[in-house]
Amino acid sequence: MPDVENGSGAIPMPPKNTQKKAKISIPVRTMTLHTAQDIWGRLCQDLARRLPDRPFRDWVMPCKPIAFDGDALWIQTPDLSTKLWLEEQMADEFYDALALMDLPNLKLTFSTGGAKPKEEATEKHINFQAQPSPSSEPYSLPKGFESYTLENFVVGPNSNMAFSAAVSIIENYGRTNLSYDTNLLFVYGGSGLGKTHLMIGIGKGLVAKHPHIQMAYLKVETFLHELTGAIKANNTEPLRQKYQSKNLLLFDDIQTLTPTMARTQEEIFYIFDYMLQHGKQIVITSDRSPSQLEGLHQRLLTRCKGGLTVDVHPPEFETRIAILKKKLEDPSLYGYPPVPEDVLTFIANKAKGSVRELQGLLKRTLFQADFLGTEVSLAVAQEAYRGATGNEPTASVSIEKICEAVADHYKLSLSDLTKKKSRQKEILLPRQIAMYLARELTTASYAEIGRVFNNMHHSTVMNAIDSVKKRMQRDSDFHREIQGLLNGIG
Ligand code: ADP
Ligand code: MG
Repeated sequence: MPDVENGSGAIPMPPKNTQKKAKISIPVRTMTLHTAQDIWGRLCQDLARRLPDRPFRDWVMPCKPIAFDGDALWIQTPDLSTKLWLEEQMADEFYDALALMDLPNLKLTFSTGGAKPKEEATEKHINFQAQPSPSSEPYSLPKGFESYTLENFVVGPNSNMAFSAAVSIIENYGRTNLSYDTNLLFVYGGSGLGKTHLMIGIGKGLVAKHPHIQMAYLKVETFLHELTGAIKANNTEPLRQKYQSKNLLLFDDIQTLTPTMARTQEEIFYIFDYMLQHGKQIVITSDRSPSQLEGLHQRLLTRCKGGLTVDVHPPEFETRIAILKKKLEDPSLYGYPPVPEDVLTFIANKAKGSVRELQGLLKRTLFQADFLGTEVSLAVAQEAYRGATGNEPTASVSIEKICEAVADHYKLSLSDLTKKKSRQKEILLPRQIAMYLARELTTASYAEIGRVFNNMHHSTVMNAIDSVKKRMQRDSDFHREIQGLLNGIG
């Protein structure tokens, strides 16, 4: 392969992979991939390079390819945990590896059984890649994004800014007299919080309203791959034109650009610049805010900072419940027994970090029930939780433990936090936060929480918790800080 960025001859990878092993040796295009073994072997080569040793050895190596029929590759996993782990945690890695192999539409099906299922339609498995979309669609999106629509996106206080921006882009497309420029929307937030979902939802919403719109979805890795080919052919102009001619560019995970990808950054800059000058729409996602994007060159960074920036946070309890209910409407989960409310509450209480985690625990619970041939019950959900995390589901958090964690975080002594009669800001805010966390993480009443804090009146506790909630809604950094504490303790 020609050298694009660093003279090594190998394709440079995004930062998450930089400390990992460089094992790749066979250029993909020179290999003919005919059999399940060929494809799996090639995938493993790539995954070995992307993943740290341990996960690769524990999860990928024990799998075996079973069959390949031109559209799908069947892979046998040694047990249910491996199947679920690969499906839930590695979809992105598999997608990127398949894209590099020029097989972005290949469907991967993991099963614990040894044979290729005869009737695929009756299978209750979850695939990375759904069936190819009808060729009449005016755009091409990677498989697996079928359910990513704005209708399927559950909006909560954690995402309403981002969602409103998405809706406003669709409603105002083509208008030039807006008070702020939304031609570039920058969505950032932690992993698994719905950034890609929202971005694809914008794309589909825009195309539904303006069918002539040409859109493209792009990841750094795919672009790098295309650029490598263009440089090899000694002509990068068609590549630039391919994207500049679109009306809408969805650029996912821009944080994977590294400072050494100078040529890639330059090309992307020209594409962005052209599109913005011609009134076209760009949506970018990132796991961090523009000001924290250290890998980007200055002029590309300036472009990112010039748009409308919105962030997404982990959802609150009520939103988590609403998301679980929405997920149960997904066709891929048809056929499972109904999920009782107490199970939904349990899952929502246990999976707080991201929607991906939430969804993962729900699917694991359903699979577990299916596997055992039982109803979905709290016991099954607890078993699924144990399997997913290795933690005891019944281990509860005490208010004392919460206070210790908060005191530690804000460098206060425990007695200052709970007993000191003071309205000093340094104590008041951590104390309010501890009360909020106690309410989120335990079943204690306002009065019980008040007792821990110098017998504070229950209405004062309520007001304190309310003020934390309000501040979380208006202050993103504060929201993130509290969510971090919450996840650390819970
Ligand atoms: P990110 O790009 O932020 O890492 P994704 O967009 O890939 O996250 O979302 C991870 C999973 O969670 C997807 O299956 C997505 O459909 C789901 N998801 C995330 N947020 C929401 C939401 N608000 N409503 C419904 N599903 C969501
Ligand atoms: Mg994403």
